[in-house]
Amino acid sequence: MTLEQKIDRLRELVEGSDNIVFFGGAGVSTESGIPDFRSQDGLYAQKYKYPPETIVSHTFYRQRPEEFFEFYKEKMIAPDAQPNAAHLKLAELEQRGKLKAVITQNIDGLHQKAGSKKVLELHGSVLRNYCEKCHTFYDVNYILKSEGVPVCEKCGGRVKPDVVLYEEGLDMGILNEAVRCISEADMLIIGGTSLVVYPAAGLIDYYRGNKLVLINKSATSRDAQADLVIDGKIGEVLGAL
Ligand code: NAD
Repeated sequence: MTLEQKIDRLRELVEGSDNIVFFGGAGVSTESGIPDFRSQDGLYAQKYKYPPETIVSHTFYRQRPEEFFEFYKEKMIAPDAQPNAAHLKLAELEQRGKLKAVITQNIDGLHQKAGSKKVLELHGSVLRNYCEKCHTFYDVNYILKSEGVPVCEKCGGRVKPDVVLYEEGLDMGILNEAVRCISEADMLIIGGTSLVVYPAAGLIDYYRGNKLVLINKSATSRDAQADLVIDGKIGEVLGAL
């Protein structure tokens, strides 16, 4: 099938569904200018003193907070990024009553910026930050304008992003809701994710339907399982619907 034929097939599947769930990752936001981890120009390909996965781990955050925040502020926060055609189409499908949930591994808040209402953020959000001691809330600008390690202006505690770092557990309430949505879905669209980060990637095993669509720029270990695999840019593919 050509790319156009695949997009036509995707359109048919979407039109015949009314309980679609989207499961996505960092590749959904690359067309908004936010680098992912594993693409050729992703963060893994750039050279740092430590691999990104080491820096954004709980141990590193505890032991080397200055270096953590230096990397985090420069590479993980993109205050000017705007939703792309993929985010916008998903919000539109929700508004039309077709899509019931976006489940994302992303932490950039772009689905909500595009208008999506039901967004399950498996790994949290850079937009929310809390004092570790007194739990005062801080927005992303507070982190960006802080020098070095951000501290609470009320109690002096360290302000931690509401982001699930490597070695940290996922929120059970969000996980359970994601399982419920996926197991009830009549169509599951997976896009922009290498499907290697667990437990998030394991969630797709709860899908029981026969409309599993994978949209990714590179092959994944789940391609053989999918009913339709579209090798393309997700913004272009969803934007063409
Ligand atoms: P990943 O980097 O492991 O994989 C991204 C996948 O998306 C790759 O397979 C790549 O080929 C594909 N891709 C890239 N651009 C694409 C596009 N335009 N269209 C279609 N496919 C595209 O990302 P992951 O699977 O999400 O896992 C990485 C972890 O890093 C996640 O936990 C995520 O929270 C975090 N992360 C998030 C952001 C963000 O919030 N925007 C950015 C970087 C990393």
